[in-house]
This record gives sequence, C-alpha cells and structure tokens, in this order.
Amino acid sequence: MVRSVYPNLTPYTCSLADLPVEEMKQALGLEQVYKLSFNENPLGPSSKALNAMQQALSQLNLYPSSSGEAVQGKIAEKEGVLPENVILSNGADEMIILVAQTFLEPEDEAIIPEICFVQYMASTYLMGATPVFTPMKADLGIDLKAILQKITEKTKVIFLCNPNNPTGTVIPADELQAFIKQVPENVLVVIDEAYHEFADGDGYRSSVELVSDFANVFVIRTFSKIYSLAAARIGYGIGQAALVDAINHVRPPFNVNSIAQAGALASLDDAEHVAESRRINQFGKQLLCKTLDELGLSYLSSQANFVCVNTGKDGQEVFDRLAERGWIVRKLTGYGLNSSLRISIGRPEEMEAFVEVFK
Ligand code: PMP
Repeated sequence: MVRSVYPNLTPYTCSLADLPVEEMKQALGLEQVYKLSFNENPLGPSSKALNAMQQALSQLNLYPSSSGEAVQGKIAEKEGVLPENVILSNGADEMIILVAQTFLEPEDEAIIPEICFVQYMASTYLMGATPVFTPMKADLGIDLKAILQKITEKTKVIFLCNPNNPTGTVIPADELQAFIKQVPENVLVVIDEAYHEFADGDGYRSSVELVSDFANVFVIRTFSKIYSLAAARIGYGIGQAALVDAINHVRPPFNVNSIAQAGALASLDDAEHVAESRRINQFGKQLLCKTLDELGLSYLSSQANFVCVNTGKDGQEVFDRLAERGWIVRKLTGYGLNSSLRISIGRPEEMEAFVEVFK
C-alpha cells in the first residue's frame, strides 16, 4: 500500500537526546536535567514576541494570513530584498521538504555533504530521488571541489549548510561565490543558514547577497535558533521571485500559524534580544573552548551555538557518563565522528556547571 520509497524513510525517533526535558528526567530518574542536545536558545523568546503571541490568541478562530505578508515584508526590509523574494514555512524543516517537493523528481540526484543536517537526505528520499554524498575536507569543512566533481546531468539540487550543523564550520564567502559561478544554472543551490545570526564574521557572510545575481540560489533561515521560537515552528526562504513562486505551488495554504507569525514579527523588532542571545552564546562558547583547550581536547572552531568536540574516547561512553549526571548532549556517529559529541551552548551558569562536570 505504501510508496516504494518508505524503506528509505525513518519515522522521527526519540533517543534520549531527543526527548523533552520532563521525559528525560523520567527516563534517567533524575530531578534535574540539562538539555544541551538541540541547539536551542537558552535565553527564551523576546518578551516583545511573547506579548504579541499572547495577543494573537484572541484571533485563534480565524485562519492566519496564508503568505504571512507582514512577516514577509519585514524580512524583506531587513534583508534588502523584495517581499516577493521571501516565503515562510513551518520551520526550516518544512522549507527543506518544500524545496524537495518543488525541484526533485524520482530520477534526480541531490548532492549533500556527508556530515550535514539529516533533513536534506530525508527530503531527497521522500521524493524518491537519490542523495549523492560528498566527503568533507580534512578539517571537516564542506568540500566545494568534491561537490563540483559530483555534478552530473541528473543533479538538480545541492544542499549546503552554513554555518554547518553539526560541525559549526563556515564556508568562506569568497569560496562560496566562486563555487556558485561554477554550478550549472539549472542546479539549485540551497544554503541553509539556520545558524546565521550566531555567526561572528571570520570569513562568513550570508548568501542572501548572492540572490539578486544568481537565479539558482535559495537561502533558508529559521526563527527557531537566535529568536528562540522553536516550538512555534516558523522559518523562511529567500530567493528570486521565480523560485519563490515555484515553491508557492506546493506550499500548503496556511502552513504558518498566526501565533508564530505574531511572534516572528515582534522578534524582528527586538535587536536587544538578538544581541543578548549572541552575548550569552559567546560567553558559553568561550568558556567551553577554554576548558577543552585546558583538557587538551580537540574541537572544531564553531560560528554557531554549539561545539563539536572530539572526546578522544568512545563518544557513547562519555555521553552515558554525562547523562547519568543529568547532562544531555548530542552523540555523533559515523564518518570518523564516533568519539565526537556536539554540545549546545546553554545559559552562562549552566555552562559554568557543565565544564566542571565535563572535566
Ligand atoms: N536546518 C538546520 C541546519 C538545523 O540545524 C535545523 C534544526 N536543528 C533546521 C534546519 C530546522 O529548524 P526548524 O526548527 O526551523 O525546523
């Protein structure tokens, strides 16, 4: 009865690191659990966003704006593009699925760096298309040359993540631009910038600046990370109007609820909340990296809100020992990462406690 692609798809399964905190507590039999496994913003949403969302509750009987004009307009203004270049989605996750539904046929290939966010692979399989994985550079950065070598006439989409999850590394802006010039115009380059607002320069620039020159560039963002609205489920994409129009053909009519739209709109007006989120992240990241330096452990230089650490031991063992003490991080697997953990940056006091336990 089900489609032939189903064996390639796995239902979203909850390992310990994926559970809500209350369920983690039950599973571990602990009263206090700290979740550093989801790259969430520990500051919580802007109070302006929470007020706006509270007010939006009074309109719950009405359907939301389908395209979310107000949010679309504000994003366009902020990013220096037109509203017709912006499309909203139910989290960046839905945008990845919408891209696959719009651009991938079963006979097509999508190129995906092998250490990357898992949804690119899942969405490619969903369409019955074939993911083509490319190796990383020796420093675990995304290898653009390896990607160019894998392009065939079957390639329809290239998925990039910048800063990359789970490594936190960035693709230098000049290299990315040179790469896009070499990609055939009929191949869509998707650049997932879920962690954009945490990036602190050093080679990184958003690819939104490329959208006006390249009809095949599509940038994905989210309100789940710096804006701390992960539970509200709202993300967006930026590309030329023809791309946005094509995706609008498959987008469900009311994919972003009105509470999320209200929260997102108000969040975009709260620059202080963004600045505070960045400050907290910098503090925690510096403290964690300083500790790792003292311990002589290697880690990847991250421009996101997490750090990928090589524990030098069996990663599962370190994960288990941290979990016993109530600290849940992300255990990485495969691609030589079996001794690595991805640690999300929590509140300053959490990070101060974490580094002591970690030591
Ligand atoms: N892209 C990347 C790189 C991510 O890490 C995540 C969330 N972990 C997403 C997209 C999905 O985010 P959202 O909550 O907006 O669906």
